Amino acid sequence: MNNSKELDGKKVGKKRKFNRRSLLAGIAIGAVGVAGASRWIDRLGDDPNRPPDLYEYALDNYWFKTANLADQKINDPLKGSHQADIVILGGGYTGLSAAYHLIKRFPKKHIVLLEGACCGYGASGRNGGFVDAGISGLDGYTEEAGPEKGRHAFDLTLYGIQVIKDLIKDYGVDCDFEETGHIHAAMTEEEAEGLEHHLERYQAMGLEANLLHGREMESDIKSPRYVAALNLPYGGIVDPAKLACGMKKVVEGLGVEVREKTVVMKVTPGKNIRIETEMGEISAPNLVLGLNGYSHKLNFFRNRVIPLNSYVIATEPLSADQWQSIGWQNRQGIADSRVLFDYMRPTADGRIVIGGSDYPYFANDKLSAGNYKPVIGKLTQSLFTTFPQLTGLKIDHAWGGSMGFNIDFAPSVGRMGDYGNIYYGVAYCGEGVAFAQTAGRIIADLMVGESNDFTRFFTVNRKISYAGPDWMRIIPMKLYKWLLVSQGKKTTR
Ligand SMILES: Cc1cc2nc3c(=O)[nH]c(=O)nc-3n(C[C@H](O)[C@H](O)[C@H](O)COP(=O)(O)OP(=O)(O)OC[C@H]3O[C@@H](n4cnc5c(N)ncnc54)[C@H](O)[C@@H]3O)c2cc1C
Repeated sequence: MNNSKELDGKKVGKKRKFNRRSLLAGIAIGAVGVAGASRWIDRLGDDPNRPPDLYEYALDNYWFKTANLADQKINDPLKGSHQADIVILGGGYTGLSAAYHLIKRFPKKHIVLLEGACCGYGASGRNGGFVDAGISGLDGYTEEAGPEKGRHAFDLTLYGIQVIKDLIKDYGVDCDFEETGHIHAAMTEEEAEGLEHHLERYQAMGLEANLLHGREMESDIKSPRYVAALNLPYGGIVDPAKLACGMKKVVEGLGVEVREKTVVMKVTPGKNIRIETEMGEISAPNLVLGLNGYSHKLNFFRNRVIPLNSYVIATEPLSADQWQSIGWQNRQGIADSRVLFDYMRPTADGRIVIGGSDYPYFANDKLSAGNYKPVIGKLTQSLFTTFPQLTGLKIDHAWGGSMGFNIDFAPSVGRMGDYGNIYYGVAYCGEGVAFAQTAGRIIADLMVGESNDFTRFFTVNRKISYAGPDWMRIIPMKLYKWLLVSQGKKTTR
């Protein structure tokens, strides 16, 4: 027994010695492995062309110039300690639309909107200005729920377009909105077949749409690149920064306190939510998050809402002859049908704004706004391939911005938190100009406690899938994009 105990003891002792050594060796190997892997992942995500983080404000954004942002009054930041009824974070369309709908519902409440830079500084002041009907995720919903419910959901998204029209009519917002509808263009016969499927789906939903082939397209667009085009007479084009600036004025006029140059540093949820800013603090029993692609920076929707980037160029104004040479009399926004598609539209002063070609993700959810040369180069080339008639036209402006995506490719609008007092709208997946207006209405309806078609909309409180940890996301993102491109699937719009 003793022996055996000794043996056992020896065995145990030996085992312990062996375990300690192997544990140390394991830790050392693991550490080297992790360091190596993270260096490798870092290198994979390190893009020398990525525009620097800190030249966001001075970026060469054509829309900022049309909205005369340089000469606009930017409101003073929040300083000191305050209490409000509702605080809204973010001065993009989500925050501004929530402010607009909330102040109409609660005219006596003290509503404060906090924006880090100036209203329209994020995606809302930088986008292509396509005012789309429908929304990402609607195709999947229609497949599951059937064309009738799909049509009902589509009709609810038209509300966002109506809000823009109301802002123009009732408040004189000057944002160059043109109700032109949109064109989806095909560059190959295979893509043209895809458009036929879209047409069938739209027809099953009772929507107006028509497909044009070859020369039939010429009144709409003259390009050797397009073989077919699907015309959708819903929505239109807008000057996005003018819309955001106009909305700021409207909500201020209605009584919302808008604080700009107010970077929010920390949010502490609770019954009375505490929001700490760079120079002050404010508490409120209700909070609205309108941060979209920036949400992760304040630890909201981290690893769920992912910032993807889109880059845009604006040409110099075209001459009357140049416009004549490319047709485009009806001035619709055009998106092609490739996976990494381009979108382009005319501007009020006769330029072409074109974006897309690639939608880069930068490692660790980095945001990026400036002149990203690889994509700007592709866009310029794409413009002249689409319209060889315009070769030699100068590119006057180039910029970009970050927008919120998720791996479900569908937005979520809802309320959350232990006290159910944090409201949000995120992940419009590149289609937020009109839908963020609807999101603001949904947020207000939820806060009022209403139950209606908007609060039952299929994206309300939709769970956003986990997208994996941010430190390694660059790998699945690159793989995913490669897979999509190699299978020829369309990512958005
Ligand atoms: C280049 C580009 C092209 C696009 N084209 C189209 C298009 O043609 N049609 C379409 O429908 N959609 C398009 N989109 C998407 C669309 O612009 C967005 O879905 C929409 O603008 C989102 O609005 P938002 O208010 O939710 O977010 P944002 O407009 O991004 O607003 C978030 C705001 O929060 C502020 N903020 C962030 N962090 C803080 C903080 N800590 N403290 C205070 N404030 C903070 C930011 O400054 C920003 O103003 C495009 C996006 C980009 C980038």
